[in-house]
Amino acid sequence: MPNKTILITGGAGFIGSHVVRLFVNKYPDYKIVNLDALTYAGNLENLKDIEDKPNYTFEKVNIVDADAVKAVFDKHKPDGIIHLAAESHVDRSITSPLDFVYTNVIGTVNLLNAAKEQWKDNFEGKRFHHVSTDEVYGALGDTGFFTEETAYDPHSPYSASKASSDHFVYAYADTYGLPIVLTNCSNNYGPNHFPEKLIPLMIHNIINHKPLPVYGDGKYTRDWLYVIDHARAIDLVFHEGKNAEKYNVGGFNEWKNIDLVQLLCKQMDEKLGREAGESQKLITFVKDRPGHDLRYAIDATKINKELGWSPSVTFEEGLSKTIDWFLENKEWLNNVTSGDYQKYYEGQYANE
Ligand code: NAD
Repeated sequence: MPNKTILITGGAGFIGSHVVRLFVNKYPDYKIVNLDALTYAGNLENLKDIEDKPNYTFEKVNIVDADAVKAVFDKHKPDGIIHLAAESHVDRSITSPLDFVYTNVIGTVNLLNAAKEQWKDNFEGKRFHHVSTDEVYGALGDTGFFTEETAYDPHSPYSASKASSDHFVYAYADTYGLPIVLTNCSNNYGPNHFPEKLIPLMIHNIINHKPLPVYGDGKYTRDWLYVIDHARAIDLVFHEGKNAEKYNVGGFNEWKNIDLVQLLCKQMDEKLGREAGESQKLITFVKDRPGHDLRYAIDATKINKELGWSPSVTFEEGLSKTIDWFLENKEWLNNVTSGDYQKYYEGQYANE
C-alpha cells in the first residue's frame, strides 16, 4: 500500500513533468497520479522515462469538468494535491481570455471543491498546494522586488486569471479551513519547455537560422529560474511549508530580454561551431505586446531563510544544460513545432 497518494495536475506540461518525475523517483512509497487534459501544451513524451514505474498513474481529465474531477478524487482518494494545470501563455490570454477563466479559475475551484468534499473537513495530513506566478504582482520599475506581502496588481488576462485562482485558494482556507500552501515563481526555463516561450523559441530559431523576434526595445526584464530548481522548491514547500502561507520562488537572476538573447546566441555559436556573432545577426525587434510589464523580480528570502532553498545552478550553467537538451532532443522539438502550434505561431511572435 502506498503511504500517500499525491494528485499532480498539469503533470504532462513543462513544469509539471519535472515535478512528477521528481516525486515518482524520490518517493517510491507514494502513489503519484498525474491528471492532465493533454491540451496543446501537454505532452506525455515528457514522462517517457518514468511512465512504467509502479507508483505512477495517468488520468486524462479536463479540470473544467467538475464531475470528471470528482470521479478521479473518488477513485484515488488523494492526500495531497499539487496544482499546476493551467493555460499558461500570456499571448494566448490576450487573444482568448475566456479559456484562461475556464481552466485557471473554474478549474481551480473545481479542484478545491473536490478536495474539500473528499476530505470532509477532516484535514489531518492533507494539503492543497497551488502553484502560481510572480505575474500576479504586476510590474516593477527599475528597482525593488516582489515580496510575499506585495499587493496583487495583475495586468494581462493570464495574470488576472492566476490572481483570481490564488484568491480562491486563500478563500477556501479562510472559509472552510482547507489546508493550503502557495508558491509564486518567476519565469522558468529548461528541458521540455514548449517552444512558444522565449528561450526555447530562440534556441529553435537559432538552430534553423530563423529571425529572433524580440519585443519592443528588448529592455523588458525577467527573473529566470531553472525548472528543476522550481520542482525542488515545490517539493520542499509541499512537505515543509507552513500551512496557509505563500512562498515566493525566484533565482535572484534578472535579465533584460535583449541581454539574454545575446547570451544565448553566444553559447549557441560556441556549441554549434559557428563564427562568433553569427547568430546575433538574426535578432529582429518586433512590435510590443499590449499591457507588457516592464520588470518582474522576486525576493525569495523567505523560502531561503525558512526552508533552506536556493537555486542549484547558475544561469549560465542552467542555460548551457538547456541548450544541450534541445540539441540532443531535436526530434522532440520538431514534433512539437509541427502541427497546430505552427499555425498559431504564424500569426504571433512569442515571448515568456
Ligand atoms: P504548461 O502550459 O507547459 O503546462 C500546462 C499543463 O496543464 C499542460 O500539460 C496542459 O495539458 C494542462 N492543462 C491545461 N488546461 C487543462 C485543463 N483544463 N485540465 C487539465 N489539464 C490542463 O505550463 P507550465 O509552464 O508548466 O506551468 C505550470 C504551472 O506553473 C501553471 O499553473 C503556471 O501558471 C505556473 N507557473 C509557470 C511559470 C513558467 O515560467 N512557465 C512560472 C511560474 C508559475
